[in-house]
Amino acid sequence: MSHSGTPGGQPGPQRTTDRAPALSEPARAYAELIAGNRRFVGGAPRHPNQDAGHRAAVADGQHPFAVIVGCSDSRLAAEIIFDRGLGDLFVVRTAGHTAGPEVLGSVEYAVTVLGTPLVVVLGHDSCGAVQAAREVATTGTQPLGHLRAVVDAVLPSLRRAETEGVQDIDGIVDIHIAQTVETLLAQSPVLAGEVAQGRCAVVGVSYRLAAGAVRQVAAVPAGFATLDEQAGPLDPAASAAA
Ligand SMILES: [Zn+2]
Repeated sequence: MSHSGTPGGQPGPQRTTDRAPALSEPARAYAELIAGNRRFVGGAPRHPNQDAGHRAAVADGQHPFAVIVGCSDSRLAAEIIFDRGLGDLFVVRTAGHTAGPEVLGSVEYAVTVLGTPLVVVLGHDSCGAVQAAREVATTGTQPLGHLRAVVDAVLPSLRRAETEGVQDIDGIVDIHIAQTVETLLAQSPVLAGEVAQGRCAVVGVSYRLAAGAVRQVAAVPAGFATLDEQAGPLDPAASAAA
C-alpha cells in the first residue's frame, strides 16, 4: 500500500465505478482467483500483469478484483499463489489473519471506495499463529509483547473448536478461517451491507503449503461455491486422501 495520503494512494474517497467488466461480479472474481491458483498448482503460471507496460497502465488508479485478508506466513504470497500481478489484489496480511480495526478499515476501503467485489480470508495448514494460541491455551503461559494481541484474537476460534470437538491443528485452522469470515461481517456493518446488496461476497479458503492449492471452507452468501464446484476439485491429492 502506498503511503501518499489516503489508503491505497488513491486521490480521494470518491467511489470508483469503472471496474473491469469481466471481473465486475463476486462470482467472476472468485473464478478468476481460482483459475490463477490452478495455474500455480499445475506449474504453469502466466504471471499476468507483471510487465512494465502494465505497471505504467495502472499507475493512475487501481481496480483490484479481490481483497485478500491473509496470514503473514512467508509461504503465502498472494500474487504468487493466485498467479496475478500489479493492480489485481488488495492484500492485507497479519499473523493468523487476525482482523483488528486497521484491517477492517482496509477491507472497507477496497470494497466501498475501489469497488472490489470479493473478500477472501486466506489461512493455511500448520499456521504458526494458531499453534501459538493453542500453546497459550494449553500451558497458560502468556506470549511476550504485542504477540499477545495476535493470540488473543485467535483464542475465540480455539474455544469454538473445543466446543465442536475439533482437536487437530488443521481442523482448528478451518474453524479459525470461518471465524475470521464471520468476524469481518460482524464487525463491519459496511461490508455486511455490501454483501446483503449482492455487490460483494466473503469467502474463506485454506491453503496447503505443500500442494499449493486452496480449498473453500466458508462463504457468505451461503452457496457461493458454485463456480468453484463446477470447476472440479482444486487439490486432487487432498480429495483422494480425504
Ligand atoms: Zn499462518
